[in-house]
Amino acid sequence: MVEKQRGVTIWLTGLSGAGKTTICQFLNTELRSQGYQIEVLDGDVVRQNLSKGLTFSKEDRDENIRRIGFVAQLLTRNNIIVLVSVISPYRAIREEVKERIGDFIEVYVNAPLEVCEQRDVKGLYKKARAGEIKNFTGIDDLYEIPLEPDVECKTNQESIAQSSNRILSKLKELGYTNSILLPEVESCSRI
Ligand code: ADP
Repeated sequence: MVEKQRGVTIWLTGLSGAGKTTICQFLNTELRSQGYQIEVLDGDVVRQNLSKGLTFSKEDRDENIRRIGFVAQLLTRNNIIVLVSVISPYRAIREEVKERIGDFIEVYVNAPLEVCEQRDVKGLYKKARAGEIKNFTGIDDLYEIPLEPDVECKTNQESIAQSSNRILSKLKELGYTNSILLPEVESCSRI
């Protein structure tokens, strides 16, 4: 069991379909099984409750991130490990939240647009290309690449376990966990 846990926000940013939710689910399961207290703030879930009614305009996207950042800050200062998966396309607001929280690991979940579009996990790229969705990140809205992320996961080149291990290694390196790395199980390497 974990004796005394230090809070930290692990903020996964990247295009839709890059792998943020998948990696968060992996880490959530793994860290919980090791006895850590975890909370997950997923962009899609947040928009159904905390940020219900907000649009995808720049102003509303920033407001969404501020709200998520506020909740993550409360949890982090209560020694929870917070996993945030949200596109968060704008650099300035990511920096603002990072400064406010302090204990913060920025993870750039990086897959080329073509790969995300091919995956089209939720069928949204097809709709965006057809003009049924406006302001879709990567299509007709901006994504500002993190300049100095703490971790970068290239999800088109590595397995889910490898991507997750990069984050687990960083948590350990910074003294937030003593977490054990995941075995690189071949069955979860390419889904
Ligand atoms: P997002 O939350 O960023 O919108 P999802 O996690 O919903 O993206 O979808 C990412 C897709 O990419 C999933 O189908 C997942 O199985 C696949 N994938 C392939 N390799 C990886 C990897 N290394 N890390 C995360 N996801 C991966």
